[in-house]
Amino acid sequence: MGGLLSVVIPAYNEEETVSDAAREILRVLDEARIPCELVFVDDGSSDGTWERVRAARAADGRVRGVRFSRNFGKEAALLAGIRFAAGDCCVTLDCDLQHPPEKIVEMYRLWEAGFEVVEGVKVSRGRESAAHRLCAAVFYRIMTRAVGYEMRGRSDFKLLGRRAADALLSMPEKDTFYRALSAWVGFRSATVEFEVAPRRAGQSKWSAGKLISYAVRNITSFTSSPMRIVTALGVLMLVFALALGAQTVANKLQGRAAEGFTTVIIIVLLTGSSVMVSLGVMGHYLTRMFDELKARPRYIVAETAGEDDEKAARAVP
Ligand code: UDP
Ligand code: MG
Repeated sequence: MGGLLSVVIPAYNEEETVSDAAREILRVLDEARIPCELVFVDDGSSDGTWERVRAARAADGRVRGVRFSRNFGKEAALLAGIRFAAGDCCVTLDCDLQHPPEKIVEMYRLWEAGFEVVEGVKVSRGRESAAHRLCAAVFYRIMTRAVGYEMRGRSDFKLLGRRAADALLSMPEKDTFYRALSAWVGFRSATVEFEVAPRRAGQSKWSAGKLISYAVRNITSFTSSPMRIVTALGVLMLVFALALGAQTVANKLQGRAAEGFTTVIIIVLLTGSSVMVSLGVMGHYLTRMFDELKARPRYIVAETAGEDDEKAARAVP
């Protein structure tokens, strides 16, 4: 079948890895004789990433680049890259080469064989702390339930055919979770297993705080079960309140009303905190609705390298 492959590479402060990534990916794809273009998305880096992208373009005309006006996050970078991609299919992978470029060939062959979505699945997670590993396990278990697809080992390393990519781009929501949406769009899909390589250079761009808020946002964007849990909790407390209320009234009628201060304190604390947590949960969903409602663009493009796309850059994402 064949067709142009676009490789989308989000890069945030990756000056140390951009050149290597471009060279390595082009080498692998040239060896496999796959027609390709590389789309680097500079996610508002404050270092020399953009200069490296331009240099890579000067070295090989198949490299293109998009630069955001500030850091909009990896999700936005992925979507921008897919939007700019001109290929019949596109692969997204990390700039630090933790996603082995050799696997792109395997994905491309599967696409040629008729698979519209090819997911990269991690068989090992590389070097990580025990705490990180545990949090990841909990997160993916919740996500699997929320999304209704097996999410364990899923990554942002994947291939999307044109139809799947267009389906993804047509979603109006601002707050996306690429990893799960690629399964959500459906189509015939296959998986390719890979080992997470150690980072080529530089440091992970994720802090613990960023990861936690990422996890909460993604879970709540796929499920409203936290709200249901709040309701269930409310019902449970109501039953408890009725039982305790009956007991209190009985005590009163028997003239033994003065006792039970401990109970009062516990109940006040319990009700107070559960009401606050519930409000927090609702507030979270409200905020999310507010953000979607504002309908701000997902990203703003400051500059592009290798365009004709100047026009495309101004199109509202
Ligand atoms: N990245 C990005 N925007 C961000 C954070 C990260 O585009 O705000 C890119 C980063 O340049 C890299 C990829 O996302 O290409 C994965 O980031 P990183 O390697 O830091 O994450 P990890 O591999 O530790 O999950
Ligand atoms: Mg990485």
